[in-house]
Amino acid sequence: MSALHGKTALVTGAGRGIGRAIALDLARAGADVIVNYSRSQEQADEVAAQIEAMDRRAWSVQADVSRKADIDRMFDRVEADFGSIAVLVNNAGIEPRADVCDFDEATYDAVMATNLKGAFFCAQRALRKMRDAGWGRVINVSSLHELTPTGFSALYGMSKGGMALMMREMAKSYSRYGITINNVCPGATRTDINRKVLSDPAYEAKVIAKIPAGFIAEPEDIAPAVTFLASDAARYITGASIFIDGGLWL
Ligand code: NAD
Repeated sequence: MSALHGKTALVTGAGRGIGRAIALDLARAGADVIVNYSRSQEQADEVAAQIEAMDRRAWSVQADVSRKADIDRMFDRVEADFGSIAVLVNNAGIEPRADVCDFDEATYDAVMATNLKGAFFCAQRALRKMRDAGWGRVINVSSLHELTPTGFSALYGMSKGGMALMMREMAKSYSRYGITINNVCPGATRTDINRKVLSDPAYEAKVIAKIPAGFIAEPEDIAPAVTFLASDAARYITGASIFIDGGLWL
């Protein structure tokens, strides 16, 4: 039987990029998947259709995770229709780039609300049910920048640094309930978040030169670690940050 057969996973921001690859990989491992999106229903529906083609259940559900009211509405509907979530993947994130002195308050609030507050309140909703069930997985898509500063997006680095301690706080309190809580920390990965900057060949070459593995990752390089963390084989891994960055942090 597949490792995640009979389990329901919710992946935030799963219409494209790393979240999309994670949703598809979890389905390949047997999970039914809730595909969360904030704006583009078409992309989420396409991911859900691919999952259904694997004979899994899938549902695309709209929620802007920067708004707690949206998170509660999403969880209320998901719990009514699917029952509780066994695997939560907090993937949604934004990365506005600017000089430290140029960020405004609205951008500060948007980054913290999407990357950190959203992940916290999704996890809070999921953990309550996981605690009752005695089994659960919370996996946050953090970044190697939870450890090292970016130099180009201070707010993003700060939000991911917060995500590191958020994960460890939750792991310390909730691992006793059969729940594991971990971060995967991608390095440079080709998605819409960096498509514009990487389209400059000189910038791309500079990024690649810093990566010991010598290339930029694809979303499919990140997803298998999430599927592994979701499985029973990873039951003793909790409170960990797993770097999937071709050695970029070194
Ligand atoms: P992406 O921009 O393609 O994906 C981000 C996803 O989050 C999109 O689907 C977007 O619609 C969604 N999203 C944004 N705000 C949202 C909100 N308020 N509510 C719900 N969904 C929202 O980029 P990606 O690279 O796939 O990013 C996924 C995660 O990976 C992010 O958390 C990002 O920080 C992390 N990450 C990416 C890289 C990289 O190099 N691509 C490196 C490290 C970490």
